[in-house]
Amino acid sequence: MIEAKENIPLKHLTTLGTGGPARWFISCSSVADIVDALKFAKARNLQVFVLGGGSNLLVSDQGFNGLVIHITLKDLTYDPKGLVTAGAGVNWDHFVKTSCQRGFTGIEALSGIPGLVGASPMQNVGAYGQDVSETIASVTAIHRNTLETKTFSKDDCEFSYRQSRFKSKEKNLWIITSVQFRLSGISEPAAKYDELKKSLASDDKWTSGSRLQKINTIREHVLKIRASKGMVINPLDPDTRSVGSFFVNPIVTTSIKDHVTQVALKLGTSHPPAAYPAGDNLWKLSAAWLIEHSGVTKGFTLGRVRVSTKHVLALTNPGDGSTTEILELADHVQSTVNSSFGILLEREPTFIG
Ligand SMILES: Cc1cc2nc3c(=O)[nH]c(=O)nc-3n(C[C@H](O)[C@H](O)[C@H](O)COP(=O)(O)OP(=O)(O)OC[C@H]3O[C@@H](n4cnc5c(N)ncnc54)[C@H](O)[C@@H]3O)c2cc1C
Repeated sequence: MIEAKENIPLKHLTTLGTGGPARWFISCSSVADIVDALKFAKARNLQVFVLGGGSNLLVSDQGFNGLVIHITLKDLTYDPKGLVTAGAGVNWDHFVKTSCQRGFTGIEALSGIPGLVGASPMQNVGAYGQDVSETIASVTAIHRNTLETKTFSKDDCEFSYRQSRFKSKEKNLWIITSVQFRLSGISEPAAKYDELKKSLASDDKWTSGSRLQKINTIREHVLKIRASKGMVINPLDPDTRSVGSFFVNPIVTTSIKDHVTQVALKLGTSHPPAAYPAGDNLWKLSAAWLIEHSGVTKGFTLGRVRVSTKHVLALTNPGDGSTTEILELADHVQSTVNSSFGILLEREPTFIG
């Protein structure tokens, strides 16, 4: 049975802690609840927004004049071979921790990412050399208009860097209800990211531990590195009141990459921007490098909000700031990078309201 609540503040349901209320709000702990909630919205001609853990969201200060469907489906089942079905409302890091403890590999480098399982396919979440597209076997979702349930194979999801069909061509069409992952009970865990490799190198549990120890050691080190950057939610650390990285790493052509290198040389920087191949004539540049070298510093403050003191990619609300102020700060960062390097950074979080 669903319960429709009215005028529910959303700021406490987001990691940034800003934004106004939802006109209508329904928590859904089953597929049947979601169907009922969609019927509720249709009968009243309401816009629908799907809320997971609120860690990649910017809610308008005016709030949302429609129905927020909060996803709380919490089933989590493992088969012995590593095929896992996780409800969309399962906490992502709980799922990673449980899988590491059971000796499964494939998602250990994704430790500490906030949010829920249901949002993970949306932007193909990734970190430290892994992303979910490597282990997702299928995604099950409900069509918002027809109420049909469909299971998408991994290929159907059309994953790419921070993208999927659910965030691009079929944005706002599907509500993800569960995700199936194929983890491995036999593969050796591998550290693919330089910073992680360096951190692990002097840890005996990594160099000479058992397979189970190695999996959990990767998790431990990822959590430690992330915490040093304010990327693990910690109520005592104001730098973690953010949406994580506010901007995605831009994919640019070779000529733009070369232009950025020329500008960097003129600026006399000691290291040119790191550039990773991203397809034919395309390169992924570090958004953090571009921000730092355009002159925006860690801790830069505008009104009540600021760039994280630990990581230039995170815009934070350490106190009682607003979404409007965060957007002004984002504009400032984007225009500073654009005037230095001619690249307009793309914003990562979803805006609602
Ligand atoms: C400190 C911090 C660190 C972070 N680090 C990383 C990182 O390393 N890598 C990374 O990729 N991301 C990172 N993020 C971003 C964020 O955690 C992820 O994008 C996460 O997957 C969002 O999950 P959520 O449940 O909070 O989604 P929400 O913020 O609630 O929603 C995000 C989007 O997904 C949609 N959505 C949510 N659930 C569903 C569903 N069941 N069906 C359909 N649509 C849905 C929403 O409508 C919205 O458009 C970080 C965020 C923070 C605050």
